[in-house]
Amino acid sequence: MTTTKYIFVTGGVSSSLGKGIIAASLAKLLQARGYRVTIQKLDPYINIDPGTLNPYEHGECYVTDDGAETDLDLGHYERFLNTPTSQANNVTTGRIYQSVIDKERRGEFLGKTVQVVPHITNEIKERIQILGKSGDYDIVITEIGGTVGDIESLPYIESVRQLKWELGDDNALVIHLTLIPYLSAAGELKTKPTQHSVKTLMESGIRADILVCRTEHELSEDLKKKLALFCNVQKEAVIQSIDASTIYDVPNMMLEEGLDVVTLHKLKLLNTVEPNLKHWNAFLKRHKNPKAEVTIGLIGKYVELQDSYKSILESFIHAGAENEVKVNVKSIHSEYINAENISEELQGLNGILVAPGFGERGIEGKIEAVRYARENNLPFFGICLGMQMAVIEYSRNVLGLKNANSIEMDPGTKEPVINLMEDQKNITEMGGTMRLGSWKCELVKGSKVYGIYGKDTIDERHRHRYEYNNDYRDVLEEAGLATTGTNPETGLVEIIEIPEHPYFVGVQYHPEYKSTVANPHPLFVSFVKAAHEHSK
Ligand code: GLN
Repeated sequence: MTTTKYIFVTGGVSSSLGKGIIAASLAKLLQARGYRVTIQKLDPYINIDPGTLNPYEHGECYVTDDGAETDLDLGHYERFLNTPTSQANNVTTGRIYQSVIDKERRGEFLGKTVQVVPHITNEIKERIQILGKSGDYDIVITEIGGTVGDIESLPYIESVRQLKWELGDDNALVIHLTLIPYLSAAGELKTKPTQHSVKTLMESGIRADILVCRTEHELSEDLKKKLALFCNVQKEAVIQSIDASTIYDVPNMMLEEGLDVVTLHKLKLLNTVEPNLKHWNAFLKRHKNPKAEVTIGLIGKYVELQDSYKSILESFIHAGAENEVKVNVKSIHSEYINAENISEELQGLNGILVAPGFGERGIEGKIEAVRYARENNLPFFGICLGMQMAVIEYSRNVLGLKNANSIEMDPGTKEPVINLMEDQKNITEMGGTMRLGSWKCELVKGSKVYGIYGKDTIDERHRHRYEYNNDYRDVLEEAGLATTGTNPETGLVEIIEIPEHPYFVGVQYHPEYKSTVANPHPLFVSFVKAAHEHSK
């Protein structure tokens, strides 16, 4: 195939309809038919990236191999497709404007007045086509964040209108995701909000080609006909997306509704190969038929919002299926645990995961949880800040360095077992300046992690400013905290473990960003396995 095809996914009526999951599910079906597909997210906010956002604002910040701090939908794209995304897969209004303003300062507009149309829209169109022009993909799906009619998404909608016109109907199509609310007093599903949002899209010059309708109840044939007639789409292009018990069911549901077939038809792709979902369905079967159950405590401080730890929760689903075990995750707020209530709080758990995080709030609770797990042979998995807390706990309670701390929490600490990384010391700007993205790590032969990964060198993704202080490495190792993974160039400690403990592993990197349905992360798989052993 020579030309890349573009699919745009817009949202109407309400936010949180799951555009990301629909985009990922369609991509999965197209990939399963042999197409090379990628998904891109355009976010209409002014932040350059979500890296500076509090997780309460926008959920987890997802990190790619190339070190981009991105929207959590990219996590879904990778988990569904098992192909890496990059900076090009997430663009924000802030990034668009920054780049246009930089060009203006360099004099690249040759004295012209710089305007939303054409300059901002040109920049958006360029960003959309970067992935297509790379030659790596047959189909690029672009998800437009926000809801049509929002002031801030207008330049994106206008760019889609222009691109659709430039590329032609055979090469670009628009899928509009809307809500069909159910009014229980009337006992009816209502199409009016959808009609209105299709109209709003029309006012911007865009005709939706396909409607995906989120609903809590089945759409009747009559209702689909009505939607088709009033919204100016073919009846086969009215796709029902009913609430699913797991997001991993959505590709099959879309297959049943024929979303992939209408899409291919409209794009004049006449591939008749049936999608190969063998591996996907085998995963679903394991996920839905667990042979045992474990309960894992997720110790963090953003636990009120499930999206804050999205990738961790999904990694547990992949690892659970791999072990044929149902993983119940119990969120435990680190601020509310202390030496007095710890055994009560962690009662009945088969393992704890101490979560990543920033700042002082809740860290003493995390340290207490690590101590409990270490002393009681409870499987422990520490990620990033969780690993740093394990180093502090060991230094305080085993080495007897009562003042051990991280420079992040106590800049004046006498025992900085967790130190600010050297190249972070002169950094003054917050955005995009952490140690980010994929870095190599060498594993120590014979260690637990070496057995788990089954290789010498791994690549994992990072997002941190602080590090294990190598000045303490000898004493900590002598006291029994093994260092089993380090960066080959800098010597930065990436992994710690306690060899005698049934499962005590802390990692400076974020394994959760690399777990996918096709490739559950080995650390999560082994941790769930250890929790399963514990439950016996
Ligand atoms: N706050 C710690 C650091 O910057 C840990 C970061 C994290 O958990 N992602 O090093």
